[in-house]
Amino acid sequence: MPTIRMNVPPDSSADLRSLFAEAKVIAGFTGAGISTESGVPDFRSPGSPWIRNKSIPFEAFLNSAEARREAWRRKFAMDNLYQDARPSRGHVALGSLVAQGKMPAVITQNIDGLHQASGIPADRVIELHGNGTYATCLSCGRRHELDWGRRRFEVTGELPGCESCGGTVKSATISFGQSMPKEAMRRAQELTLACDLFLVIGSSLVVYPAAGFPILAKRNGAKLVIVNREPTELDGIADLVIRGEIGPVLQPFIARH
Ligand SMILES: [Zn+2]
Repeated sequence: MPTIRMNVPPDSSADLRSLFAEAKVIAGFTGAGISTESGVPDFRSPGSPWIRNKSIPFEAFLNSAEARREAWRRKFAMDNLYQDARPSRGHVALGSLVAQGKMPAVITQNIDGLHQASGIPADRVIELHGNGTYATCLSCGRRHELDWGRRRFEVTGELPGCESCGGTVKSATISFGQSMPKEAMRRAQELTLACDLFLVIGSSLVVYPAAGFPILAKRNGAKLVIVNREPTELDGIADLVIRGEIGPVLQPFIARH
């Protein structure tokens, strides 16, 4: 049976501190819960724009100019809402763990770029669902900045084609119906199998294949720790569950400079 602690700091921090000290390699894994303190709502929370709007499937985006227009309209409206989002205490604490050398990378389900904004080098953030802070060409993969397309969109209602090949440019997120990014999945699996402590922060672990990584880590002999405000699907196989607010639980791990 797992240890489930509804405990609050400092007890939860003491539990985490001893697990971190024992671990050789820690895999970080984050979901929307780490960004709520930043002002980015969890997409399953009441009032979230993700609930109000049915998502646009990848097929529709590819085949319909109307769907593309709607996707970009929502995207830019959302960017207006969250442009002031800043890293939370959870992001900053994970940044400290990465900087201290025990956490090679953070695997994230989030698309908000806040791990990078907290100072974690981009090559140490493994994004399973892509990144919403820039766009890429679906044909050649060339990166485009959002400002580039936004100005044209506001005038014409359409995004220009790729600057290299003329292909369709899409926000660099993984849409419903779009295949998972191969390289990110490979790296996430590699880290999962290399770690002896798998640390889940702010994910309810219901979205697959992402939620398969903590299961894989556990089967491979790693300890599994889950910090989340609500119960998760995998609490039953965890070694330690801390059910509480992420900011106060992780704040003690923010390194002082
Ligand atoms: Zn292109």
